[in-house]
Amino acid sequence: MSFFSRSKRFAQIPERLDVVLDGEPVTVRLRTHPRARRYTLRVGRAGSGPSITIPPGGSLDHALAFLESHRDWLESRLNAMPEDRPFADGGVVPIRGVEHRIRHRPGRRGTVWLEADSRGPVVAVAGDPEHLARRLTDWLKREARHDLERAVFKHAAKIDARPTAIRLRDPKGRWGSCSSKGTLSFSWRLILAPPMVLDYLAAHEVAHLRHMHHRPSFWRLLREMCPDTGRAEAWLKANGASLHIWGASGEE
Ligand SMILES: [Zn+2]
Repeated sequence: MSFFSRSKRFAQIPERLDVVLDGEPVTVRLRTHPRARRYTLRVGRAGSGPSITIPPGGSLDHALAFLESHRDWLESRLNAMPEDRPFADGGVVPIRGVEHRIRHRPGRRGTVWLEADSRGPVVAVAGDPEHLARRLTDWLKREARHDLERAVFKHAAKIDARPTAIRLRDPKGRWGSCSSKGTLSFSWRLILAPPMVLDYLAAHEVAHLRHMHHRPSFWRLLREMCPDTGRAEAWLKANGASLHIWGASGEE
């Protein structure tokens, strides 16, 4: 071991490391963990990036060597992952399954509105450019609430059920849930998907007001309420993960 690598061994381990993978700069997070037994490399969902866990007594040198030995694996994993698409002027966002171009309109009143030009649908965002992403996200959440409330009440009326509240969140692992108290929670990102997917999720959680399980009686009721059940499930399986690449990543 050379003098330099020995001295680095005892240097403090930085929180992040900028490396080049496949010609692209990539930030790798480094974290020491008191109970880690070995070096591990993880690639989180879209937005969180790769991270290396370093065991007690570990070093930056070893972390670098570990990263190098897993370079091919990491490159192929990152290439397979859809890239994050932050909300910005000139970018795009799907709204109710239709791709819209994002246009910043500083001089106009109002906050966010839909329009179309010769190239297709546009979502226009007024105000300061630094608030564009937040303003668009807030607007999408309001639209999601509007569509979900309408869909929930439509399906609830079919089975004479009454949800106690409807909440919007941004969970990574699920699109909706129903609490034992009758509170229905949904991902606001459903507003990005085709309307039949949002409608299905509303029906799914409403059906849980009758059956708090996924046994055949639940699915029977759900298919009666929502004939698109199979199609919507298939859409989510194929495309659900890609809904997380849009805008800022979730707070949950
Ligand atoms: Zn369920």
